[in-house]
Amino acid sequence: MGTDNYILQIEELSKSYDKKIFALKDFSYRLESGKICAVVGESGSGKSTLLKLIAGLERSDYGQINMGNQILCNDQIHLSPQKRPVGLVFQDFALFPHLRVKENIAFGLAPGSHSKIEQMLKAVRLEGYEDRFPSELSGGQEQRVAIARSLVREPDLLLLDEPFSNLDTNLKSELRHEIKRLIKDLGLSMIFITHDIYDAMDIADEIIFLKEGKIVRQSPIADIFKAVKDKYVQENMEELKRSAETILSMIPK
Ligand code: ADP
Ligand code: MG
Repeated sequence: MGTDNYILQIEELSKSYDKKIFALKDFSYRLESGKICAVVGESGSGKSTLLKLIAGLERSDYGQINMGNQILCNDQIHLSPQKRPVGLVFQDFALFPHLRVKENIAFGLAPGSHSKIEQMLKAVRLEGYEDRFPSELSGGQEQRVAIARSLVREPDLLLLDEPFSNLDTNLKSELRHEIKRLIKDLGLSMIFITHDIYDAMDIADEIIFLKEGKIVRQSPIADIFKAVKDKYVQENMEELKRSAETILSMIPK
């Protein structure tokens, strides 16, 4: 398979905040174009650091990130976040509380982007909510605004840091399917962080398990049962374990 099929290529990426402990260490990974990847790992394993490095909010110590033929960062280059074809949605959504929905989405866009904003509101099913403030929205609606704000910039890759963890179970399932539909309809690729293996099983094409800044297991979602059976995953993924146990009990002996 040629490199053209990969939207994202990460080679030997390392990042240390204190020059002692590495948050990410010799991290290599490729994401195929159009695919959704779930990142799972215990707290402090480097998940958020990975997304911040891809988005350009942090600088790597070593390594390289490419999207297509474009170098996002290496020893010499650090492309600014605005120049990267990447959208990052934070766990707390990070909306501006004093701005209305439409102003949140339009923030930083060129004036006259009205039709693009309308289009986005429609895509995330928030028509009629454009004049509300974030405090007048539910958690799920706030998340849609955050996603719309990212997508209106037309990224090729969407990154979501624990997008489902603040939402109740019913809403969660509905939202993750909507996000998947959006990503597939728009022909984008996505990486999302989750603590819940059901999130991964439901919408991801593949899953990577992180520990101490490294990938310890990578698996297509079709092989999730095998991955969860992995001794390492079972022993070390405390947060994963609860849902993993349910899945394990579903596997015929
Ligand atoms: P995760 O998202 O998997 O919980 P993070 O990527 O946030 O993990 O953190 C990985 C490691 O880097 C942790 O040890 C964390 O304490 C450290 N770290 C993260 N951000 C900073 C920061 N801004 N300054 C110093 N250390 C940090
Ligand atoms: Mg995190």
